[in-house]
Amino acid sequence: MTLNETILRRSEELFEYMQKIRREIHMHPEPGFQEFNTSGIICENLDKLGIPYKSGFAQTGVVALIEGRGPGKVIGLRADMDALSLFEENDVPYKSKREGFMHACGHDAHVATLLGAATVLNENRDKFDGAVKLFFQPAEEGPGGAEPMIEEGCMENPHVDAVIAFHVGNGYKTGLIGIHGGPTHAAQNELRITITGKGGHAATPEKGIDAIVIAAHAITALQTVVSRSIDPLDPAVLTIGTIKGGTRLNIIAEQVELSGTIRYLKDSVGEKIHEAIRRVMDGVTKAFGGTYKIEILEGYPAVYNDSDLAEKLKGWVIDLLGPKGHFVVDRPTMGAEDFAYFARKVPSVFMRLGVGGDDPSVYYNHHSSRFDIDEKGMINGCAGFAKMAIEFLNDKGE
Ligand SMILES: [Zn+2]
Ligand SMILES: [Zn+2]
Repeated sequence: MTLNETILRRSEELFEYMQKIRREIHMHPEPGFQEFNTSGIICENLDKLGIPYKSGFAQTGVVALIEGRGPGKVIGLRADMDALSLFEENDVPYKSKREGFMHACGHDAHVATLLGAATVLNENRDKFDGAVKLFFQPAEEGPGGAEPMIEEGCMENPHVDAVIAFHVGNGYKTGLIGIHGGPTHAAQNELRITITGKGGHAATPEKGIDAIVIAAHAITALQTVVSRSIDPLDPAVLTIGTIKGGTRLNIIAEQVELSGTIRYLKDSVGEKIHEAIRRVMDGVTKAFGGTYKIEILEGYPAVYNDSDLAEKLKGWVIDLLGPKGHFVVDRPTMGAEDFAYFARKVPSVFMRLGVGGDDPSVYYNHHSSRFDIDEKGMINGCAGFAKMAIEFLNDKGE
């Protein structure tokens, strides 16, 4: 049997195993840094496979190591583990048993797929040099588990040369694997602005400084930050999501608080946006006699896929599944992903895995209370992980 046949046949056989794990985790969803039960399921399965691991990375994370036939490179395979605060509305036998929590992003399938791949790789240790490190990572949805795991040393002993990960997507047909080089997810910042004027009687506006009027001008002027200060070929978003101010209809509001999100792909664009926001707020508040305070909290950085590695992975996926098994992700998303921290450390690639059946239009989007997947997609996820890991480790080029 060829390597491809071995991998594909075994991944198909493992479908029920992966489905069982996915459903078990789906029924017991846990939010970021509380994935204790999930972590327990992972450790139990690694124990059964006889794969050594260390748990407790960033509280609930698990790092396992599958060593090959001899010395060589090390590749990291990453799966995030956390669920969301959401009431599941699906009427399925594996519906969430924890009210108010739900695996609405598919991270349950990520864990199951990685355990499937661990099984295949462990059985084929005599077919590759070096080692495979498995990263089961908490809190992707926030506040982020990748950064603390890296700080706690998950990329060393042995040193990891590259990291790859899948995100399931029910907008793509089942089993397809999407890969592209370059930017794939945006950097995300939280923006908080406080505008202060001077309160007073609504009937004597001349004696006060109306923070609501300043806010109205500020919000309008902030619309020019992206449209007038940023190169139109550089994607960027500035959204003001909340506005709070005023206490009563006959009182001039003394304070207004705005909050929003900033998204961009290049750090230099982020710097320009920050600068433009400060300039606009400075000018607008001065013009009306008020003052302001800005707080920008930098969240996950942008994810950049390594182009050379992406090309190689694409070749291996096509070799495994044929040209129809691969699709080109033609554009990045302005969503954020803390896989970014792995990608900033070593050449890394974040890929898509289709779980949308034959007709993705019937599925609800990620983070919806009716989100679900076609579990059969996990087969190619498992096979893809195994194939790419083995080929990477045996690839002596460069
Ligand atoms: Zn999500
Ligand atoms: Zn997700």
